[in-house]
Order: sequence, then structure tokens, then C-alpha cells
Amino acid sequence: MKDITIIGGGLAGLINAILLARSGLKVQLVEKKHYPFHKVCGEFISNEVIPFLEQHGLYPAVLQPVPIHTFMLTSVSGKSSCMPLDLGGFGISRYALDHFLYQKALEAGVECLLDTAVQDVHFAENHFTLTLPHQEQQKSKLVIGAYGKRSRLDKQMHRKFVKERSPYIGVKYHLYADFPADRIALHNFRGGYCGISRIEDGKYNMCYLGSRSDLRKYGSIEAMEKAVLYENPHLKKLFTQSEFLFEKPEVINEVSFAPKRPVEQHILMSGDTAGLITPLCGNGMAMAIHSAKLLSGLIIQHYQQAVLDRGALENAYTKAWTSLFAQRLWVGRNVQRLFGSAFVSELGVGLVSTVKPIARQIMRRTHGKPF
Ligand SMILES: Cc1cc2nc3c(=O)[nH]c(=O)nc-3n(C[C@H](O)[C@H](O)[C@H](O)COP(=O)(O)OP(=O)(O)OC[C@H]3O[C@@H](n4cnc5c(N)ncnc54)[C@H](O)[C@@H]3O)c2cc1C
Repeated sequence: MKDITIIGGGLAGLINAILLARSGLKVQLVEKKHYPFHKVCGEFISNEVIPFLEQHGLYPAVLQPVPIHTFMLTSVSGKSSCMPLDLGGFGISRYALDHFLYQKALEAGVECLLDTAVQDVHFAENHFTLTLPHQEQQKSKLVIGAYGKRSRLDKQMHRKFVKERSPYIGVKYHLYADFPADRIALHNFRGGYCGISRIEDGKYNMCYLGSRSDLRKYGSIEAMEKAVLYENPHLKKLFTQSEFLFEKPEVINEVSFAPKRPVEQHILMSGDTAGLITPLCGNGMAMAIHSAKLLSGLIIQHYQQAVLDRGALENAYTKAWTSLFAQRLWVGRNVQRLFGSAFVSELGVGLVSTVKPIARQIMRRTHGKPF
């Protein structure tokens, strides 16, 4: 029987795995893909994570992350406004970052099962049974759910958020573009918004949250981009004057920001599996890392006792997770309403130009403090 099995090897899964294995626990991480691989994400990480990553030797300096200090907002019609980012962040691709952390997990002694999608998890008689492909079964005392935004496992658990269809799709490109290296821009378009910022090796990430109904209406990603995203002149320029590096974009469906619970059927959820913040806040990755720090710290504390008190661990995690993240998620959901409409996006740009303290306050409320 494993001490801990972690389902999913994104930021939350890898950080949990590294911290738990370094504390001496027997950890298995199951990831359905193999590293390195691309993922839909804006790849801008808030600087709130730097003290933690440096303290644990996990800051990826060797990958040459790009410091980002200014924020630009444009409206659907192309009006723009800039402001400094109080905390700032850095740009690095998930392709490089997740692979870097995977190497750290191997060094820490984590047993990694790659190219393996967990099919089912079942809790009975105080342990979990996981079903892997080919009906292989494994037992584990604890399970961490770090499988991201949405998975078949959520359906099997009848989690509430999977019952409602989400209107959003996510699309990502890497490109060479004419754009300032220290800036992140959020460009509004009808029904969504698109971020652009620099990552390693002189490349840029362009990633947007669009609408499923527009994709259906225009029939393809390309046709939708030409009809909808090109209305914003900044986006038209980026699409028509940049060198695109993927043959086709990375695309995900059903991006839901509905509330979730951090513990479900005794599985301890971490990262997006516990709650996904709207991408315009630019700190989903920081929250995934922070939630892994929180959860692994509590697990280590509880394992030090003679008998693992599962109920006490679940309660402590639920309470700590809620107090750290619930408000941020709520503010993120509400700020998102300001995006994707022609009229409201003009107001948003006006707010950033003229009432910077208010814009700053909103930003602060969606971010945590450095940890
Ligand atoms: C359009 C968009 C743009 C974004 N931009 C940003 C940004 O710029 N900055 C930011 O901080 N955040 C951003 N985010 C949010 C950020 O991407 C997530 O918060 C972050 O990736 C969460 O990490 P995670 O480890 O929880 O999940 P993930 O990184 O999604 O990892 C989950 C892993 O689980 C694996 N998996 C899934 N199912 C199974 C299974 N059954 N068995 C085994 N493995 C499984 C997957 O392959 C994956 O590797 C964005 C999100 C979206 C949708």
C-alpha cells in the first residue's frame, strides 16, 4: 500500500509530490501524459511564489524566466491603458516549468507513473483503491486529486460543477512577436479576452478565453479569430504580424469557474481541482503552488501522529483552504464580468487610466501575498 498517491502532475501535483517525498513519505504520482508537454495556460506567474520556490530550491532560474512589471488593458475597440504591476511576475512556459519540476520530483524519490490516466478512485475500509488502465488496481492510504480543471473523475464523483456546461473555451499559441518584454497585456474582444506576455527564449505566449457558442457559430478556431478577435486592432496586428510556432493551437473546452470543494469523498483536492480562478487574474499557477504547500504541510503534520486522523486532516485542510482562497475566487469570478463586452471593456480601460488606485485594489484582492 502506498502512503500517498497523487493524481495529476501539473504544478499542484508536482509540488505536493516533491514536498511529501522530501519529508520521507512514499509518494506515487500518476500523470496521464509524459513530460515535456504543452498546456493551455497564459504562462505568467505572479511573483508571490518566488520566496517559496527559492526556499525549496525550486525557482527555475536555469530556464531564464522573464520578469514582467507592467500591465496593459485594451478595450474591444482598441483603446488602451497601462499601469505598473505592484507585485509583478515572470513568464515561463509550462512545457519547460513542469518538466523542470518533474526532474526535481524524480530527484526527491517520487515514483512517477507517466502516460497513465487514473480511471476510477474508490474509498472503503479506510483506504483508497485506484483503477489504472487495463483494470490494474492499486491501494493507497491517502489520495490527492491534482488532475486540473476537469476530468472523468469529477463526473464519477458527481461533482456539482460538471452538471452545468461552461460557455468558455481556452486557446493557446507560442509565437515571436513585436511586443515589449516586460509587459503583460489583456486584450478584450466580444465574448472574451486574450493575454500576451513573454516566456523563455525570446518567445511569447498568446492565450485567450473565448466562447463556445462563437466557435460553433463560425465553425473553426481560425474563422472565429478573424470574425471576432480581429475586431480589436491590437489582436489583429498580433495575429497578422507575428510568427506562430505551433502547427495548431492547444485548445481546451468546458473551462468552468464554478465553486468546488477542497475535499470530496475523502480525496484531498489541490490546485484547479479544488477551485479554478479566472485567468484574467493571472495567478492560478500561484494558487496551485500555494495550495500544494498548504496541503503537503498539513499531511506531513498529521503523519507525525501515531494514528492518522483522517477527519481532523480533512477539516483542517478545508478550513485553511477556504480562508486562503475562497474570497479570491469570488472576486475573480465577479471581475470577469467586466470583460468581453464592448461597453464594459471601455469602462474598464477608463478605470485603469483615470482611477488607478481602484484598479490596483481590485488587482490586490485577486492576488495573495508573497509566501
Ligand atoms: C485560458 C487560461 C489561461 C490561464 N493563464 C494563466 C496565467 O497566465 N497565469 C496563471 O497563473 N494561471 C493561468 N491559468 C490557470 C492555470 O493554468 C492553472 O491554475 C494551473 O495550471 C493549475 O495547475 P494544476 O496543477 O492544478 O492543474 P494542471 O496544470 O492542469 O495539471 C493537471 C494534470 O493532471 C493530469 N491529469 C488529468 N486527469 C488525469 C487522470 N485521470 N489521471 C492522471 N493524470 C491526469 C493532466 O494531464 C495535467 O498534467 C490559466 C487558465 C486558463 C484556462
